[in-house]
Amino acid sequence: MNQVPPHPTGPHHSIATCPVCGGGLCGVRLCTGDDPTEAAPQSGFVMCDECEAVWLEPDVTSEHLYVDPESPRCPICHGGLWSTSRWAGRDEIESLGWSSLIDPGLDTNG
Ligand SMILES: [Zn+2]
Ligand SMILES: [Zn+2]
Repeated sequence: MNQVPPHPTGPHHSIATCPVCGGGLCGVRLCTGDDPTEAAPQSGFVMCDECEAVWLEPDVTSEHLYVDPESPRCPICHGGLWSTSRWAGRDEIESLGWSSLIDPGLDTNG
């Protein structure tokens, strides 16, 4: 049960600690779309880096869903989770209008 999850890195910026598992970080991810020839949808969502609960709004008190652990899919474009979305950087979070929701105390690597 102590498997390392297949995350390349943890979230850069998070809005909360996870109310579902109590230990993860609810990081902001940016959907970049699954078709490189089309403009990316640039939509954000929130995902816990521990239990992979997902929120489509930057509000962890709203209803959450889970990605399929066998075949995780991006909740926005439904492409592969790890190939069509990434942990959002500060500029990207700003363009989502979610900057004020970030808890700087949860940021990784300063
Ligand atoms: Zn969690
Ligand atoms: Zn996506």
